[in-house]
Amino acid sequence: MTQTTSAHHEGGTAPPPARFDAVVRAAVGQGLLGEGSPVAGFIDTEGVRASVGALHAAFAATPGVLHTFAAKACSLVPVLRLLADCGMGCEVASPGELRLALEAGFAASRIVMDSPAKTREEIRLALALGVAVNADSLDELRRIDALRNPGTASVLGLRVNPQVGGGSIGPMSTATDTSKFGVALRDPGAREAIVRAFRERPWLTRLHAHVGSQGCPLELIADGVARTYELAEEINATLGVRQVTSLDIGGGLPVNFADETVRPSYADYVAALTAAAPGLFSGRYSLVTEFGRSLLAKNGFIGARVEYTKDAGGRRIALTHAGAQTATRTVLMPDAWPLRIGAFGPDGTPRSGPALAQDIAGPCCFAGDVVAYGRELPELAEDDVIVLYDTGAYYFSTPWAYNSLPRPAVYGFRAVAGPTDGSGGSGDDGQVAFTTVRDAQSLDDIAAESGLAHADALIERGD
Ligand SMILES: *Cc1c(COP(=O)(O)O)cnc(C)c1O
Repeated sequence: MTQTTSAHHEGGTAPPPARFDAVVRAAVGQGLLGEGSPVAGFIDTEGVRASVGALHAAFAATPGVLHTFAAKACSLVPVLRLLADCGMGCEVASPGELRLALEAGFAASRIVMDSPAKTREEIRLALALGVAVNADSLDELRRIDALRNPGTASVLGLRVNPQVGGGSIGPMSTATDTSKFGVALRDPGAREAIVRAFRERPWLTRLHAHVGSQGCPLELIADGVARTYELAEEINATLGVRQVTSLDIGGGLPVNFADETVRPSYADYVAALTAAAPGLFSGRYSLVTEFGRSLLAKNGFIGARVEYTKDAGGRRIALTHAGAQTATRTVLMPDAWPLRIGAFGPDGTPRSGPALAQDIAGPCCFAGDVVAYGRELPELAEDDVIVLYDTGAYYFSTPWAYNSLPRPAVYGFRAVAGPTDGSGGSGDDGQVAFTTVRDAQSLDDIAAESGLAHADALIERGD
């Protein structure tokens, strides 16, 4: 997609949410944000539980749905364990994510492995554990043929690309004609080849599609799922046996980054899918979902210190500690990923005052390390704190090691009853309890992962 400076999205003008004000103040008060800890991620534990509850409620009429969490959206063991505790399964797409899911305590039978580049070793391990595997191609099915033990407990599926088109963000659209994912369903001969693949493999019982993520409208996702459903019907009718017994319908519910409202909701999603594929929820197929962003985004934020401010060429710039290392997508594609930003004073109370257009920059040493251009906010000053909202998925949990900047600490929080007011503690006077989800990366860690153990490797020896 094309980007020009003048086209930078200067949105995010909705008033900042008060939802996390008490949390920001408590984080500053407890030293989790400040001079020695200039950037951190925060996760609303009860908010995550509520989002999972909304997902389950939306599907309540359909028995036996396995809702998995796409691990890449928040790849932190305590978060995954919280989700397991809420009754979720887990979708993984790498050996690392599989390891995290197992460490988090997901039963193998509740883990689904997707990835377009699974090695034989990964497939072997998944089959040995009984993790469900969605093959990304017919070639991968041939690998599974060779590796599969007939006794495996793994549910085996095939990912198709329904080729229904893309959404507003190209790199997030997985169902374009030329997407790298799945078997391209509308390519010449593909349907016949897929039916043949199922005919030859009675153990192949699942179809998988994930149409896309942020930027894909509900109707597009529903269209892709409907085509996958129709394919399952066609396979079963052609084979004369109900071989396809489950449909993994992926994730990708878009998140509203513009204000506090959750839209579309999971109920909207179920309604759109019901309209597009009325049989989907009839119980003919057991269903698997793979939501990521929509479960976590609004339940997390990044807090960061303002280290300096300056003026350059008539622009006010705030130099903060939240840049591309933790808001990678927003910095690299500012038009596609605008974030709401809040301004707080050094004590963590919301800043008020007339709005001033400011560039909110990060610490990285490249000029484009700016999370928002010309954002209207109360005037920021040294020692202030900014908050990047809706960053609970794919932001602090997916850092970039640029400039050897450390992975930021991540804390979970929840409101606890205040000792004096007894009101339940969720208001401004309540207390906030934090728990460490991940420590900030230390300088020793950074040195170690930067080849310290091989420090002499490139020095020429005399002999
Ligand atoms: C990333 C991904 C998901 C989750 O997407 P969200 O937009 O975070 O809901 C689900 N399934 C697959 C195969 C993915 O790659």
